[in-house]
Amino acid sequence: MEKDVAPIMAEYWEKAEFPFQIIPKLGALRIAGGTIKGYGCPGLSITANAFATAEIARVDASCSTFFLVHSSAAMLTIALCGSEAQKQKYLPSLAEFKTVACWVLAVLRVMVAWQPIGLCMGVYDMCHRYLKERKQFGAPLAAFQINQEKLVRMLGNVQAMVLIGWRLCKLYEAGKMTPGHASMGKSWTTLRARETVALGRELLGGNGILSDFLVAKALGDLEPIYTFEGTYDINALVTGREVTGIASFRPAASTQRSRL
Ligand SMILES: Cc1cc2nc3c(=O)[nH]c(=O)nc-3n(C[C@H](O)[C@H](O)[C@H](O)COP(=O)(O)OP(=O)(O)OC[C@H]3O[C@@H](n4cnc5c(N)ncnc54)[C@H](O)[C@@H]3O)c2cc1C
Repeated sequence: MEKDVAPIMAEYWEKAEFPFQIIPKLGALRIAGGTIKGYGCPGLSITANAFATAEIARVDASCSTFFLVHSSAAMLTIALCGSEAQKQKYLPSLAEFKTVACWVLAVLRVMVAWQPIGLCMGVYDMCHRYLKERKQFGAPLAAFQINQEKLVRMLGNVQAMVLIGWRLCKLYEAGKMTPGHASMGKSWTTLRARETVALGRELLGGNGILSDFLVAKALGDLEPIYTFEGTYDINALVTGREVTGIASFRPAASTQRSRL
């Protein structure tokens, strides 16, 4: 990812195009199909699959979405719902990325929660390097207290996000994960990611709004993640229903007469 994808993604992002030439390289990683066993798929644990997703997002969130749709949404659906003949026919070539799959509707929110985690790891990496390299007022930016505080806040967020994601994986593996758990994981990680990426954008000064330095691109890439697979608000309400026993999706019945 660092060698073949990182150098070209900003250019493709600006053009709003996908670099299809990287697909064989994604195939060579041998992670497509994630947790599926057999049919040429790697049979990873849910935790290993989650970290693989995060490591892709660390370099490029668009690639991680492409990977999730192919591997989790499409391949997993075939593995769970397809006939034996369909699994034999489609999964081996999809596992090698010789064919590419797409699918709409819902993917699992556990993996989606790992996208903002990986994305923030990448932003933290970039800021850490940048603050040590760029000098202002005779010292590296890393020497200024406010910058250190922001960097540490970012690191704390990343650590907490990884732990929430890891806990979700363990609950899932134990068959104990509820919709409320998954929703809280997805909504909370995107909320923290928004803060983390905004801090990164501040730390880079003017370069924080240029796609060359990853952070502005990450800022843009995070927004769809905040919304798809249920917006932050709706996921919060799913968890709210679980902990209170009261669904609040529909507004309270409005009275006919206004007091105004
Ligand atoms: C890049 C991208 C990719 C997507 N990919 C897919 C996909 O592959 N498959 C798929 O099925 N969908 C996909 N979506 C659609 C996504 O799931 C929806 O955009 C999302 O669920 C929000 O729905 P909406 O856009 O209709 O917003 P709306 O429902 O119009 O919501 C607008 C605002 O009102 C809030 N709101 C709405 N209802 C309530 C309520 N009851 N209580 C409190 N607040 C409320 C929302 O939180 C939001 O802030 C994708 C979206 C994006 C941006």
